[in-house]
Amino acid sequence: MQKLVTNYQINDVLEFKKSHPCGSNKWKVIRCGVDMKLECLGCQRVIIIPRVDLNKKVKKIIREEEK
Ligand SMILES: [Zn+2]
Repeated sequence: MQKLVTNYQINDVLEFKKSHPCGSNKWKVIRCGVDMKLECLGCQRVIIIPRVDLNKKVKKIIREEEK
């Protein structure tokens, strides 16, 4: 299995292992840094999460140019 890429970019869509209570498990990256800011694609709720925690939650990265 390929190691998960952790160089997230703005506008990447991250698929989480667990779903948000709204039913969506996809989050859009709106700010990168040591803390990552993500917007839920289901309910538009914004969360801030440390990058190290995010690495454990993300199942895959859906990048625009890889459609
Ligand atoms: Zn949500």
